[in-house]
Amino acid sequence: MSDLIQLLPDSVANQIAAGEVVQRPASVVKELMENSIDAESTEIKVVVKEAGKNLIQIIDNGKGMSDTDARMAFERHATSKIREANDLFALSTMGFRGEALASIAAVAQVELKTRTANEELGTHIVIAGSKVESQQPVQCTIGTQIIVKNLFFNIPARRRFLKRNSTELRHITNEFQRVALANPQIDFSLIHNDVTLFVLPKSNYRQRITHLIGKQINSQLISVSTQTPLISINGFIGKPQAARKATGDQFFFVNNRYMRHPYFHKAVMVAYENLLPVGTNPSYFLFLEVDPDIIDVNIHPTKTEIKFEDEKSIWHILSAAIRESLGKNSVIPSIDFDTTDSIAIPVAGRAGEIIEPVIEVDPTFNPFEKGQKTSSSGGNGGGNSGFQKENIDGWEQLYSGLEQQNFDSAESSTEHTNTDTEPKQQSTFTSGDNGQQHTSGRLFQLKNRYILTSVKSGLMLIDQRRAQERILFEQFMEAIKTKKNTTQKTLFPEELLFSGDDASLLHEIVDDLNAFGLQVEEAEEGKFIIYGLPGHLEDISGKNIIDGILSDYKTGEINLGEKVKEQISKSMAKKAAIPYGKSLSSVEMNELFDRLFACSEPSYSPSGKLIVSIIGNEELDRLFG
Ligand code: ADP
Ligand code: MG
Repeated sequence: MSDLIQLLPDSVANQIAAGEVVQRPASVVKELMENSIDAESTEIKVVVKEAGKNLIQIIDNGKGMSDTDARMAFERHATSKIREANDLFALSTMGFRGEALASIAAVAQVELKTRTANEELGTHIVIAGSKVESQQPVQCTIGTQIIVKNLFFNIPARRRFLKRNSTELRHITNEFQRVALANPQIDFSLIHNDVTLFVLPKSNYRQRITHLIGKQINSQLISVSTQTPLISINGFIGKPQAARKATGDQFFFVNNRYMRHPYFHKAVMVAYENLLPVGTNPSYFLFLEVDPDIIDVNIHPTKTEIKFEDEKSIWHILSAAIRESLGKNSVIPSIDFDTTDSIAIPVAGRAGEIIEPVIEVDPTFNPFEKGQKTSSSGGNGGGNSGFQKENIDGWEQLYSGLEQQNFDSAESSTEHTNTDTEPKQQSTFTSGDNGQQHTSGRLFQLKNRYILTSVKSGLMLIDQRRAQERILFEQFMEAIKTKKNTTQKTLFPEELLFSGDDASLLHEIVDDLNAFGLQVEEAEEGKFIIYGLPGHLEDISGKNIIDGILSDYKTGEINLGEKVKEQISKSMAKKAAIPYGKSLSSVEMNELFDRLFACSEPSYSPSGKLIVSIIGNEELDRLFG
């Protein structure tokens, strides 16, 4: 029997290798752009026709290649970037496998013109399907131009496999964006079928992002900067309210190379937790710098998956960095202010700075009397003068149970003292400037929905319901953490019957509910009995809370998983928060105000909606022309 094993001809081997590197026109664009960057170009022009299927041309002004190098560059494993195996581990350039040009030339018709600064004449190589057709001297500028025509001309099956132009072009713009974002110091342009898609002048990171993503993003960017011995993280993240349903504006770069990293993505998402509406994604543009020794970029042929040593530590550093930036920026409402100096921040509960409201009790006040008197609003401006006793009752009960747990201060009580709400967590609300409190505690209610107050920078509006959701949510979470939740036994246990999904969800979360002080037991399949309610929620029936949780589950706002307690907190806060349309007394408004600004995240409701907005002084002035 004759031997069966034969060596593949080089051209076939190259084609096979090309399959790894060149999946579609966008891969060619990426590899060639990276080569141009490695060649220290300051200007890179990308021209494509028919989404790169017919033509991809890259023109750079980098250092170019000598005649021999130009010829060598197309050999497989030809690279100027590594000399020995050790170099593989300490690489800072983009390419290093020496495969790109060989692979591209194996599956397309390629023309290269290149010249170095030392040479008078450049060199011109024509190569197709790995065969060199010609090499001649040529007049050209310093730098390199490559034209890649008819990709996969010699592998019809692969060519047919390419997607519609719109799809392939999207892949190209994605790659172009990634490279451009990481290299703002370089001029880039992208032209498709003679239409200029991007012209990106040399700039800084923020400008580059704005040029690429659109002007509107500029005011939504929060900067991130953290340096540790293990890693340094710089870049920008989007404000929560700019988050969108679509994914796409999420970018990680490591040592200036774009990477995908689902695990680190999670770290970012965790930092945004409870600040985003369900199903939306924040933008981020994060540049990680690490010692090249601790990463392995070689695990994937297209090199977007990167493995780090000690990913866990990086996860924590990353998440903390994002949280810190979000915290610093939490006060800035969506409508304004790029200039931080003009933002006046009300300082909640700085003892002695806020004038305690004077509450005069009118002993003759009778809530049932027609044409209620404007009682009690003495020192409080009396914007809302309908002091209705039942409001106070319902309102303060919501807090009574948690008083001790959340505000350690001994003075803490349901009496409004303004001294018991030192913010627990460092946030920009604790800005130490004097005289930035809302003027002498004057709070006004508008449409039984918003609370208004004057702050240094303008008119502050607070959405009362969202504010309360935030307050309750943080209280629930705190109570869970400290395990100090109290239960108020109900006089008559409430029996609830559920079937199907509802029953199995409840079955899953029954322990979690108990952790909140909602004492509920599964008596038999589908039958649940409520014996007690969280101490601070006497007003609401257990059934009501559970119905709320079930309906959030059905609309997808609750997913069973590790964060289920948090989601239940959200759901309960939503259910327990006072509805709009409730008129609030000055005392209640002050209470709400102080509690809100004692929260770690006063600007957004647990589901990511804006709570606080400021109409700036300038805008107010403009109103009056
Ligand atoms: P790698 O980038 O992995 O080294 P490539 O096949 O992409 O492999 O490129 C091979 C070599 O060709 C590079 O190492 C570099 O020396 C040279 N080269 C490629 N493109 C350019 C360019 N635009 N300007 C100058 N040199 C280049
Ligand atoms: Mg390369």
